Amino acid sequence: MARRKKIYEGKAKILYEGPEPGTIVQYFKDDATAFNAEKKDVIEGKGVLNNRLSEFFMTGLGNIGVPTHFIKRLNMREQLVRSCEIVPLEVIVRNYAAGTLSKRLGLEEGTQLPRPIVEYCYKDDKLGDPLVSEEHIAAFGWASQHDMDDIIALALRVNDYLSGLLYGVGIRLVDFKIEIGRVYEGDFQRLIIADEISPDSCRLWDIETGQKLDKDVFRRDLGSLTDAYTEVARRLGVMPKQATHPTKPTLIN
Ligand code: C5P
Repeated sequence: MARRKKIYEGKAKILYEGPEPGTIVQYFKDDATAFNAEKKDVIEGKGVLNNRLSEFFMTGLGNIGVPTHFIKRLNMREQLVRSCEIVPLEVIVRNYAAGTLSKRLGLEEGTQLPRPIVEYCYKDDKLGDPLVSEEHIAAFGWASQHDMDDIIALALRVNDYLSGLLYGVGIRLVDFKIEIGRVYEGDFQRLIIADEISPDSCRLWDIETGQKLDKDVFRRDLGSLTDAYTEVARRLGVMPKQATHPTKPTLIN
C-alpha cells in the first residue's frame, strides 16, 4: 500500500492527505508540550483520549447546528476531517480568570468573570502566539469584520454548549481555545470549527474539589495527565473501559 502523504506535523497532531479530495486525516499523537514547546513529554494514551473527546464534542456541536470540520472517527488515533483554510488566530473564550489572563490583569485564578470574554492570539510559534486585538486582525487582513462577527458568534455558541455539557458532569469550563477554518461552497465562504476540542485546549476544573482535569496537570506537574483526561472521558461516558491500556496479548494462554 502506498504511504500516505503527510501534509503537516504539529506539536500534538499529524495531518495526512485524506482518501477523498477536500478531506484530511488527523492523527492524534501522545506528545505533550507546554510553554511553546519548552516543556515536552510523551504521555501514553493521550492521543487516544483526545481523539475520542474531540469526536464527542465536535459531534455534539454538529448536532446542535454548529458547523465543524469533523466527518468521522477512523480508528483509535485518527479522524477524518474536512480540509479548510485555517484562520491564523487562536480564539480563546474565558468564563473564569486563569492562566495568562490572571497574570496579565492580576486576577486570582478562579475569579468568575462578569461575562464570557473572547480573546485572540496570532498563530505564530516563533512569536509565542501573541495576544492581538480586533484592530490588528482587521489591519493585517487576517479576518474581515464580517468574519469576526461570525467567529464571536461561533465561539460563544461553543462556550454555551460545552459549559452546559460539562456542568452536567460536575466540571467547570474555565476557558478554552478553538481554531476556525474557512471552507468554500460555490461563491460563498463559511467558517467552521477546526483543529480539536479536548482537555489539551480547555481548562476543566472539578466543580466540587477544584481539581484540575486538563493540560495544566502537565504544565504544572500536578500528577497523571492520562488519569485526568480519563476522568473527563469517564464522566462524559465517552471511553469504553481500558481503551487506552488494552490488555497486552501474551504468548501463553
Ligand atoms: O494560557 P492561557 O491562559 O492564555 O490559555 C487560555 C486557554 O487556551 C487554556 O484553556 C489553554 O489550554 C488554551 N490554549 C491552547 N493553546 C495555546 C494557548 C492557549 O489550547 N497555544
